[in-house]
Amino acid sequence: MNQWLMYINGEWVQARSGERYELINPADRSVAGTAPHGGAEDTARAIEAAQAAFKGWAGLPAKERAGYLNRLADLLEQHKEVLAGLITLEMGKPLAEARGEVAISADYLRWNAGEAVRSYGKVIPSSSADKRLLSIRQAVGPVAAITPWNFPLSMAARKIGPALAAGCTIVLKPALQTPGAAVKFFELAEEAGIPAGVMNLVTGDPKAIGDKLLTHPAIRKITFTGSTAVGKQLMKSAADQVKKVSMELGGHAPLIVFEDADLEQAVAGAMNSKFRNAGQTCICANRIYVQRQVADKFMEMFKAAVEKLVIGDGRAEETTIGPVIDEKALHKIQSQVEDAVSKGARIVTGGKPIGSLPGNFFEPTILHGVDQTMTISQEETFGPVAPIFLFDTEEEAISQANHSVYGLAAYFYTKDLGRTIRVYEALEYGIIGCNDAVPTAVQGPFGGVKESGTGREGGPDSLADFLETKFVSIRI
Ligand code: NAP
Repeated sequence: MNQWLMYINGEWVQARSGERYELINPADRSVAGTAPHGGAEDTARAIEAAQAAFKGWAGLPAKERAGYLNRLADLLEQHKEVLAGLITLEMGKPLAEARGEVAISADYLRWNAGEAVRSYGKVIPSSSADKRLLSIRQAVGPVAAITPWNFPLSMAARKIGPALAAGCTIVLKPALQTPGAAVKFFELAEEAGIPAGVMNLVTGDPKAIGDKLLTHPAIRKITFTGSTAVGKQLMKSAADQVKKVSMELGGHAPLIVFEDADLEQAVAGAMNSKFRNAGQTCICANRIYVQRQVADKFMEMFKAAVEKLVIGDGRAEETTIGPVIDEKALHKIQSQVEDAVSKGARIVTGGKPIGSLPGNFFEPTILHGVDQTMTISQEETFGPVAPIFLFDTEEEAISQANHSVYGLAAYFYTKDLGRTIRVYEALEYGIIGCNDAVPTAVQGPFGGVKESGTGREGGPDSLADFLETKFVSIRI
């Protein structure tokens, strides 16, 4: 059984309290390992280590920092099977998806290594003959990163990559349920030779760790991926010391199928977007809007595809959909389905937890005749339930799709170029997939608008959130 430790100032340590907690495999509810139940004191030590290491790390030539990140990316790829196995063990996604997560994590590190050496400043024309003006960009300082359980490795890589590339040091708090992939990641960082104190890992009590990260003056930036509710609390606390914040929060993605869409492509996209990670991604299609003329055909094809999913333990190679994270998640999904049915929705397939399997399994489900009065139309589902809404006009589809406090990802399927442009301009979302349900790419800026967050990760400006601009005026 895995007995994880925390990594502080280059040493593998227990929590000061000596307390540990158990990790549960969602596929069979067995104990998958244990981890230190760290708290405020451990976090303070990690912050102090990050603070002490900051000057040296930020002072390295960017090329050297990039070298470390590239070495770490190579090591991630060399240990792909171990990392993927840990992701699946602790959070349940099928191994094929976990391997994909390792691959994109390595890509995030490489992308940011590339950006490290292109972190340009500016020479600015002055209005006085005796002055020269310029701006330079410098690392913000030690950073706190807090990550969720649904992508335990790639969310850490997407933060550690740009932070280290920019010259920041970091304290990472992974989700309580999934520290394993992060621990292995840090072991590989040690092997890559990243100096002590540059990367620190604290597991355990979210409130105690979070409060310390937010109140310690050495931490200059919080980068968070998780729910909108927790993100709002963190933003409020960060305001006290005016710490910089990047927030990757919840989503409630619409996927619109217009009457002229390639239905095979649309069904494949809906399957991929809705059922990947058992519906537990922030960019999952949570509301599927189908134009009335093609609704029957779409439903027939979609139902057939959903019924082909192979449910089971993610460690079995044939599994295409795994469990949800815990029993609380199962209950939330079930209550959304019951609410929709009580208000007139019809279950086309699925609809209930799978009692015959030992883990947290919910049947892949399609709900037909869903409308805006139902909870599922407003609340993030985070489960394998696809609600279908019908619409008649383009304007109606856009208006319904935008009817959400969230604004992370949105998708639509059409072959009409004019409509493509009208719709992507009108959708109030940070990420748009046009005939593409898998838009995530290291080259693309990832992030949301409205209550889905602030800041972008990845893309050509991926270091920007980890840098301060300093203006220099020189009288000659
Ligand atoms: P969560 O409950 O908000 O937790 C996220 C992280 O915050 C975890 O590490 C959690 O720790 C920690 N946390 C909880 N309370 C805290 C506090 N008071 N202070 C400091 N940290 C605290 O979210 P989740 O259920 O793990 O993840 C699912 C959510 O993440 C969904 O809403 C999803 O849409 C969102 N998400 C967004 C993106 C994106 O890029 N926009 C990507 C992936 C997921 P514990 O685990 O220890 O409680």
